[in-house]
Amino acid sequence: MSQSFPSNVDVAIIGAGAAGLGAADALKDSGLSVIVLEARDRVGGRAHTIIPAPGIVFDLGCGWLHSADRNSFVPIADKLGFEIDKTPPPWREQNFATGFTAAERENFFAALDAFDDRIQKAAKNDTDDADDTATRYLEQGNRWNPMIDAISTYVNGCELDGVSVRDTGAYEDTKVNWRVRRGYGALIAAYARPCPLVLNTRVWRIDHSAPRIRIETSNGALSATQVIITVPTNLLANESIRFHPELPAKVNAAAGLPLGVDDKVILALDDPENMVPKDGNLSGATMRTRTGAFHMRPFGQPCIEGFFGGSFARELEAAGDGAFAAQAIDEIVALLGSDFRSKLTPLAESRWASDPFAQGAYSHALPGRACARAILAMPVDGRLFFAGEATSANFFSTAHGARDSGERAAGEVMAARRS
Ligand SMILES: Cc1cc2nc3c(=O)[nH]c(=O)nc-3n(C[C@H](O)[C@H](O)[C@H](O)COP(=O)(O)OP(=O)(O)OC[C@H]3O[C@@H](n4cnc5c(N)ncnc54)[C@H](O)[C@@H]3O)c2cc1C
Repeated sequence: MSQSFPSNVDVAIIGAGAAGLGAADALKDSGLSVIVLEARDRVGGRAHTIIPAPGIVFDLGCGWLHSADRNSFVPIADKLGFEIDKTPPPWREQNFATGFTAAERENFFAALDAFDDRIQKAAKNDTDDADDTATRYLEQGNRWNPMIDAISTYVNGCELDGVSVRDTGAYEDTKVNWRVRRGYGALIAAYARPCPLVLNTRVWRIDHSAPRIRIETSNGALSATQVIITVPTNLLANESIRFHPELPAKVNAAAGLPLGVDDKVILALDDPENMVPKDGNLSGATMRTRTGAFHMRPFGQPCIEGFFGGSFARELEAAGDGAFAAQAIDEIVALLGSDFRSKLTPLAESRWASDPFAQGAYSHALPGRACARAILAMPVDGRLFFAGEATSANFFSTAHGARDSGERAAGEVMAARRS
């Protein structure tokens, strides 16, 4: 529900992504006046479902209910009547074994699993100098290292040399991954419906020097007794929102948790039934990091979804409109044959690094900075509270981690009012 702009509230929530909406939902029966302030003309933030062609549902941002058996959006989907698809992800398959035979896949996934084991073991080492770069745990000379690095660009949004080993080890993956048939972004937009919110309102300054906090926005100023800030870390690190007095510890923590880059492209596929099986998978290349991963006919839809990450995604964004589609088509044609070129039509692509209110896809801790998540999450004076995926201790980089962090911040707001 969109509201007119109030001049005073008890609690202002900055950002209508999963975290901000989780906070608003948790405060709905608190008796407090609450407002969510959102810079965009839509809710959802990095959750955004579009219908790029009739009959095709495409999530530009989050698509998978990761750790679905512990994901708080699963009961919300049930309650809101959103069908959940439990088809297992095809990430370990390769359609027609093209360019990546069954034997090679077995070999690669053994190398990947061994690498993950080494990371988990290293992450448990709690000496101060143990939060090293994940690259250190690659086996020297292993032929699969470039592909393991490519997986890091999909999972972390950056190559392993930018990733903290302790942070990687803290992530809880139950390996159960489901999807929302009508789109994860559509589910989160439906979750927003009862929340009191104002769109097209960019917050640029938070003055917490006086008992009432003054929030300056593109729509005018308002005051609140408590504020929950949920904007992505890159915007905190580059001080897109300025605090008075300044909060150098928060800016520093956010800088240790930059958003990596991941982007998606969707291609319509002619004659789908005769081209590829439903819910299939294709890895673009196996001997290099600069490559895409492709989900063939997700939900049986007549399309192929491409995924690019890390510095390669950054370069393709910089190359301009259509670069993801051109790269995706070249990689698919190289694997499946030239017949595919005339069957594929670009429909849409994301550009998360260029998005002014995201500036990236999801957070990863830099080597040595795993502790930044807890520092960022800590309240200031019982009046400023921080949520967002980057503040989650073990479900960071996900939509449910973001939602849960909003609920956690709402609990902190209530606890501070009681004390
Ligand atoms: C390509 C891609 C794929 C992904 N895949 C998955 C997946 O499969 N599963 C999964 O769980 N997660 C996935 N994610 C991650 C997930 O989408 C995010 O972790 C989650 O949506 C973040 O929610 P949030 O509320 O923390 O931040 P956001 O969604 O970014 O919300 C913050 C909000 O603050 C607003 N804002 C920013 N600045 C201001 C300002 N100055 N004033 C007012 N408002 C402001 C923004 O517009 C935004 O709406 C993916 C993300 C991307 C980009």
